[in-house]
Amino acid sequence: MIVQMQNIRRIFGEGAARVVALDGIDLSIDPGEFIAIIGASGSGKSTLLQILGCLDRADEGSFFLDGSDVQSLSGSEMARVRNETIGFVFQSFHLLGDRDALENVSLPLEYRRGAVSSTRPREVLERVGLLDRITHRPSQLSAGERQRVAIARALVKEPRMVLCDEPTGNLDSDSGDQVLDLLSELRDELNTTLVIVTHDPQVARRADRVLTLKDGRWDA
Ligand code: ADP
Ligand code: MG
Repeated sequence: MIVQMQNIRRIFGEGAARVVALDGIDLSIDPGEFIAIIGASGSGKSTLLQILGCLDRADEGSFFLDGSDVQSLSGSEMARVRNETIGFVFQSFHLLGDRDALENVSLPLEYRRGAVSSTRPREVLERVGLLDRITHRPSQLSAGERQRVAIARALVKEPRMVLCDEPTGNLDSDSGDQVLDLLSELRDELNTTLVIVTHDPQVARRADRVLTLKDGRWDA
């Protein structure tokens, strides 16, 4: 089991502004699984993904990630687990505008010495079909190409798990399909655990398992 969550709760604000974003979530994920988490806007998808990715911490419940008891870790230990275990893909790509594709993909390696060869960013860009775009900046790429750069960046450190928040949300349906094909092929090739949160029902067709969130709980 790479993920084991029990009774996870996340509460924002106080008094009249109090929002229970996650209200008792259980979740177990096997290594290499492709999970789609769907649900309406505001149902808690991004909150859950942020907790899974060790970017945010639950208020209650237990969460084990690849054997680590995340709830008991300090902030810096959480950051280390995040850097070693997780790759992220976001709706709005989060690429640096003043760096070219190769530099964007190389960036995660600057924070980790040794271990990964310097030819790796090129190889991953080749795998996502962008070898002829390595010196292009994000503004010189289409939206679909930008998301493929972001996928290459997420994969450059060979993370055990890749988390995607609405990865097709800013793409037309053709490039959205290409991005989903790519993610699903890469999961098969690398046996990376893949979690995609989306309100796009198209994503669900490709997943091993589809889970639906409603008001911070699983919708049975
Ligand atoms: P989704 O991604 O499914 O659209 P979110 O996880 O972003 O939903 O949000 C779930 C609920 O939690 C929403 O009601 C949202 O307004 C609230 N929420 C999320 N993040 C915060 C925050 N940082 N502060 C206050 N409320 C938040
Ligand atoms: Mg969201």
